[in-house]
Amino acid sequence: MRYIKLPSENFEKFFNSLKAWGSIYAPVKRGSIYSFQEVQRAEEVALDYNRTMLPPKKFFVRPRDEILRLKNGRWENGTDAEPIVLFGLHSCDIHGLKILDKVYLDEPVDPYYKARREKTFIVGISCMPDEYCFCKSLGTHFAMDGFDLFLHELPDGWLVRIGSVRGHEIVWENGELFEEVTDEDLKHFKEFEERRANAFQKEIPQEGLADMLDLAYNSPVWKEYAEICLACGNCNMVCPTCRCYEVCDKWISAYDAVRERRYDSCFMENHGLVAGGHNFRPTRLDRFRHRYYCKSYFDPSSGYNCVGCGRCDEFCPAKIEHVKVLEEVRGSLR
Ligand code: SF4
Ligand code: SF4
Repeated sequence: MRYIKLPSENFEKFFNSLKAWGSIYAPVKRGSIYSFQEVQRAEEVALDYNRTMLPPKKFFVRPRDEILRLKNGRWENGTDAEPIVLFGLHSCDIHGLKILDKVYLDEPVDPYYKARREKTFIVGISCMPDEYCFCKSLGTHFAMDGFDLFLHELPDGWLVRIGSVRGHEIVWENGELFEEVTDEDLKHFKEFEERRANAFQKEIPQEGLADMLDLAYNSPVWKEYAEICLACGNCNMVCPTCRCYEVCDKWISAYDAVRERRYDSCFMENHGLVAGGHNFRPTRLDRFRHRYYCKSYFDPSSGYNCVGCGRCDEFCPAKIEHVKVLEEVRGSLR
């Protein structure tokens, strides 16, 4: 992987050069939260944000997505993929997209997701963990791929890792904005990463996690938390790796209709309901526990279904903490 340097004074020009690719979406402060929004100027971007409420998933699988439209008795495909730049993704969110890729790009390929993914230029950015982050313990605190360019903060600019051919092209086309990396820059990069690694306050011990969950299916801790949980589904909506959806047809007239795909939540009572009236997860306890088993499932090719972004903790109205629940479940086996 090639490393180059973007000096601070060239940051704005670099940002503007990305407009040649497409509209730029970046984290912006909205009241007390951050959100990926379209931006025109570099100064609008919250470079030091911790996490957005909705992850970048929303650009590829939208909360409500018109996938087909019936017009005068003929179905039309609803895919609308415009070239965009997603600027300022953190490493955990890049890993989250890689997990979604496994789902949507494996056969059968989801054409809506694929078209949007191919037209998106991704610029990652380094971050410092806050009290909610636990990505380091899941190995998602550093991205080696899944981005076009990745910017690491330096005292006088940015160390840029180039992660794709498209990234190389953008750097090539704007060669006058970049410099070669010096030993001093690499020293600052390593110091930043060390400081960052030592700043994590939470972790999920991976050792024996699968066995622990097998043994703890009837732990009383699930029941205690299921009684506090409001079953609002917020944790699903904000999670970068949740991908359950439902498809509904909305009829406008006998010859006009819209087929819509929209986010679903495993906390909803009808999520486990199947034909014949059987419900696989009829109680809140079943649904609460299910989410932890889903997120802690380990796939050897893509890792866990959780990237440790901390969104489900920060945005849970019942203040339920993912790591704490798993710690207590583990503790209940002793
Ligand atoms: S966000 Fe919290 S309260 Fe809402 S469903 Fe998830 S765990 Fe329960
Ligand atoms: S389960 Fe929570 S911490 Fe893990 S990826 Fe989803 S929102 Fe982030």
